[in-house]
Amino acid sequence: MCIRANYLKLLRPLIFIRNYSSKNGYDIAIIGGGIVGTATAREILRRCNDLKCVIVEKEECLAMHQSSNNSGVIHAGIYYQPGSMKAQLCTEGMKLLYQYLDEKDIPYKKIGKLIVATDKQQVNTLEDLYERGLKNEVRDIRLIDGNEICSVEPNCVGLKAIHSPHTGIVDYGVVCESYGKDFVDSGGEIRYNFEVNAIRVTSETSYVLSNDIEKYPIQISSSKGEEINAGFVLSCAGLYADKVAMMHGGARDPAILPVRGEYLLLKPEKQHLVNGNIYPVPDVRLPFLGVHFTPKLDGNVWLGPNAILAFKREGYKYSDISVKELSESLRNRGFQILARKHLLFGIDQFLRSAIIRLQVKELRKYIPCLTVKDVMRGPSGVRAQAIDCNGSLVDDFVFDLGETGRVLHCRNAPSPAATSSLAIGRYLARKVLEIL
Ligand SMILES: Cc1cc2nc3c(=O)[nH]c(=O)nc-3n(C[C@H](O)[C@H](O)[C@H](O)COP(=O)(O)OP(=O)(O)OC[C@H]3O[C@@H](n4cnc5c(N)ncnc54)[C@H](O)[C@@H]3O)c2cc1C
Repeated sequence: MCIRANYLKLLRPLIFIRNYSSKNGYDIAIIGGGIVGTATAREILRRCNDLKCVIVEKEECLAMHQSSNNSGVIHAGIYYQPGSMKAQLCTEGMKLLYQYLDEKDIPYKKIGKLIVATDKQQVNTLEDLYERGLKNEVRDIRLIDGNEICSVEPNCVGLKAIHSPHTGIVDYGVVCESYGKDFVDSGGEIRYNFEVNAIRVTSETSYVLSNDIEKYPIQISSSKGEEINAGFVLSCAGLYADKVAMMHGGARDPAILPVRGEYLLLKPEKQHLVNGNIYPVPDVRLPFLGVHFTPKLDGNVWLGPNAILAFKREGYKYSDISVKELSESLRNRGFQILARKHLLFGIDQFLRSAIIRLQVKELRKYIPCLTVKDVMRGPSGVRAQAIDCNGSLVDDFVFDLGETGRVLHCRNAPSPAATSSLAIGRYLARKVLEIL
């Protein structure tokens, strides 16, 4: 047990006397049972296992949204701005994740990855990306030429590529379940079907800053009228991160833009065309990695994701529409600026979503023998992409301590947050326990 936990144990009769008299009182409540929330909850109890912690999740199981509807790639950390949180937490997270998967016997494959330049203009960007990877201390990456590309991926063509041998694939839904199990095995509680709709400090207290926890019992209410109290709250609400932050007086910005990513699937008889991950050189103006070929553990090969505005925060298909949420996205000033700036990109993405032939044309730049007959429509995921009021998509992870100092909000945790989850968990757990 850690020293801080011993300290808290001594203080508990004084500082949590009201909360602990009720079965709904917790030292820490975590909102959101995705991979970020569960990784952090697990890490908090690993460090201080006598704390009373709860995860509240609006769905009936963990990982219903981004954490299980994604490419499933374990990223090596090549892309990210050196020194950024993404760069640090991805490389650390990848190492921790592989150790964890081995320890828990969770299936994964280190199938490697190529980032392929198919024309001369892309070669410079690719070389810059390679330098970035070296600065980020990504292990064993190499720049390879067209011949070597063929030896790694016999059906792939390109002028030059970065080869990353340690990139892998995993089912993040399974990983998230496993984090949840660790949390429960360490005494944590998970309350499902608990959709948080209000966060407030209880009536007899005010927002005056103080280090005295007793003055800051936070009350969380659900849409069904249930209530719990907590000394500290961590919000990892993914697609609703901004909404939850605003429940507690947080700023509107960065707002969450739901960006759907649709995948095509290679038909089973064509799955042999791809051995590992094949990625394009990304468009440096956008925080998306581009449409890629990704084998899955079940043998399927996913081609995608594209990037189109979802008509609902959890809108996995065109028919999923929420007039309220869609109009909020469209009225968002940042989105309007972004839409004007990237109008052609947006139209192109919608066209490629509607007309498979156009998407296949793009994919044929990498695998020329691919035809429309080789693919079929597949699943989709929705990214929680933070956008600021100037129309910039927020690139790095954003963690924000609300104004009372008692609620820590995870406001932007896009890719590679699943790869980085154990490192994010360590970072956030340290922060939460320091504050406590
Ligand atoms: C298409 C796609 C491809 C991706 N590919 C990769 C990849 O290959 N590698 C990688 O590392 N990352 C990838 N990512 C990113 C990764 O999936 C996410 O960064 C990660 O899953 C974020 O986890 P999270 O816990 O923050 O969010 P989520 O998994 O969305 O979890 C948030 C949880 O909060 C709950 N919640 C929301 N509001 C409330 C409320 N009011 N009350 C209670 N509960 C609430 C939700 O139900 C949900 O379970 C991809 C993402 C997408 C969408």
